[in-house]
Amino acid sequence: MAYKRILLKLSGEALMGDRQHGIDPKRLSEYAEEIKNIVDKGIEVAIVIGGGNIFRGVSGASNGIDRVQGDYMGMLATAINGLALQSAIEAAGVKTRLLTAIKMEQVAEPFIKRRAVRHLEKGRVVIFGCGTGNPYFTTDTAAVLRAIEIGAEVILKGTRVDGIYNVDPEKNENAIKFDSITYKDAMNKGLKVMDMTAFALSQENNLPIIVFDMNTKGNLEKVISGENIGTKVDKKL
Ligand code: UDP
Repeated sequence: MAYKRILLKLSGEALMGDRQHGIDPKRLSEYAEEIKNIVDKGIEVAIVIGGGNIFRGVSGASNGIDRVQGDYMGMLATAINGLALQSAIEAAGVKTRLLTAIKMEQVAEPFIKRRAVRHLEKGRVVIFGCGTGNPYFTTDTAAVLRAIEIGAEVILKGTRVDGIYNVDPEKNENAIKFDSITYKDAMNKGLKVMDMTAFALSQENNLPIIVFDMNTKGNLEKVISGENIGTKVDKKL
């Protein structure tokens, strides 16, 4: 195995499956199985889940909802997804803990770094909810932040696309995929890996990011074992 402790970033939209919003239970249990497979191999798994399938602050703002208020709605949406994911992973037979950046004692533990690390050491999957706990951020930034805090070796960004392309592969059939790319090149070429705040934070802390297709069975395990199936963003290649 190429990694021991990883942070998996899943967007809220990934949980929609073929739906337009909300959570697809089938997709949820597929993800849970994928995650169980790597936990069984001794990998320590932390997850940051997004909330875009339920609410996004920016789109709220365009519909007359105060931006900060909307961002809190978005953060609470990630907690809903976190609970769903927790339930699915536990149903697959793996112990989990949900830790949130906004306190909600009845449903989740508050985020405490040492506690998160201890859970990981004990083989529990740790799900981080409520992003960074602050408005004007994204769950991508939360993913980088938490990954650095808990000492994850890599961020695995599971998407429905199999990597980073020079142009949007869903709009252009001649799009070319990168196997690997430096932070600098990704930035200069204006490639959308993550939002700029998240990207800058990972670059500053030399945290590699692998973008891969999470919707194909077995891919998560392949990435963990070092197979180059997605695109790796790193300092030097
Ligand atoms: N959000 C926030 N602060 C954070 C993380 C998230 O305010 O640290 C809000 C923001 O409004 C965002 C929403 O939560 O639009 C959902 O998160 P995100 O868009 O990152 O989810 P994803 O795109 O991964 O589904």
